[in-house]
Amino acid sequence: MGIEEMYAQFGLTGKVIAYSEKTLDGLKPRFEAIDRRAEAAQLRVIDAMQYARVDASCFAATNGYGYDDVGRDKLEKVYARLFGTEDALVRPQITCGTHALSLALHAVLRPGDELISPVGQPYETLKSVIGITKASNSLEEYGVSYRQIELKDDFSFDYDAIREAITERTKMMTIQRSKGYQVRPSFSVEQIGELIGFIKSIDPSIICMVDNCYGEFVDDLEPSQVGADLTVGSLIKNPGGGLAPLGGYIAGRKDLIEQCAYMLTSPGLGKEVGASLSVMPSFYQGLFMAPTVTASALKGAIFAASVYENLGFDVLPNKVEPRHDIIQAVTLGSAERVIAFCRGIQAAAPVDSHVTPMPWDMPGYDCQVIMAAGAFVSGSSIELSADAPIREPYAVYFQGGLTWPHAKLGIMKSLQQLVDEDLVDMS
Ligand SMILES: *Cc1c(COP(=O)(O)O)cnc(C)c1O
Repeated sequence: MGIEEMYAQFGLTGKVIAYSEKTLDGLKPRFEAIDRRAEAAQLRVIDAMQYARVDASCFAATNGYGYDDVGRDKLEKVYARLFGTEDALVRPQITCGTHALSLALHAVLRPGDELISPVGQPYETLKSVIGITKASNSLEEYGVSYRQIELKDDFSFDYDAIREAITERTKMMTIQRSKGYQVRPSFSVEQIGELIGFIKSIDPSIICMVDNCYGEFVDDLEPSQVGADLTVGSLIKNPGGGLAPLGGYIAGRKDLIEQCAYMLTSPGLGKEVGASLSVMPSFYQGLFMAPTVTASALKGAIFAASVYENLGFDVLPNKVEPRHDIIQAVTLGSAERVIAFCRGIQAAAPVDSHVTPMPWDMPGYDCQVIMAAGAFVSGSSIELSADAPIREPYAVYFQGGLTWPHAKLGIMKSLQQLVDEDLVDMS
């Protein structure tokens, strides 16, 4: 069966297929640039694995205390080499991105210290960690104060306000690279480097942590290579390559990584314990796949931006802007469209394609939320997924795609769903 016939079997009409192909014609130079960047990233990953002398012993399952867990120790060496840091902590015991960030913050900060976010409000789940939202065991409860410097109206850093906010109590800065689910651009690694340089010029002892979630392999450099003391992320996003079934990482200065390890396991034990059970093959192979997987997700995001911008919808980033993470926001303007979009994404999934996503009351949100995900790893957002709060301005956040053909199918199905329900004008 030809490809067009296969698409037809997936419910796509000639009009949607032709429209998609026409859109893609204009994207060839962008896709080539993405492939070139993935090529360089692939070389960096291979270099790091060769440097750490990865061998078959790294893939063996371990149990118990996990002393001398060779696979775990070498993987941390691989991450340190890749991120250009002295050390790294890469563990299945780090349950998710929020946990990795919370761990780094709790490990470094002491009562009386102040934490500053110089880039406006942090990711939703960090609000409880910091104590912006009251929560037991938050940093606030431990006597760590917090200050937030808003971005300027043009989304640039407010250097004057940052300078004024810094006191002798300022111990740490938390810098979120990706916009997450906010309406601001994501920062380039270059911008983050400038910000860190500015902070260090005022007080070189301030520890700069970057929330790197969704950003890995999108730029040529990682924040750790432009001055970040700690670079933190989730393995069920970019660096897990879709294969890691859980986990998080922290890469950075040796003394700080040791503090993180003491916080994760126990003072004194640190990195020495923590059996990796049988996850190491997926951590290694996932990292190996991550550059091309991230490239696929990026192509999907750019394709979605082009399709929906050409149809007259607001998209962030737009179809020509440079990319600093894999998230694509599309403002669809109505609940019906948001729901149709998510149903289209779901219908393209290899897993759970037969379920119909519905808006539901999700804890922590003040409105209903709809999510589309047909993932091999539950909640994985490097896999093709979309979610949207059902409220003004009715924006859907779309990300992932382990392969480009799957991302393409998902976006075509989202458009088809809108067309079938008469929610978009394609004339
Ligand atoms: C996903 C994400 C997190 C939190 O990661 P979880 O794995 O969902 O806990 C933090 N910050 C940003 C910017 C993210 O995208």
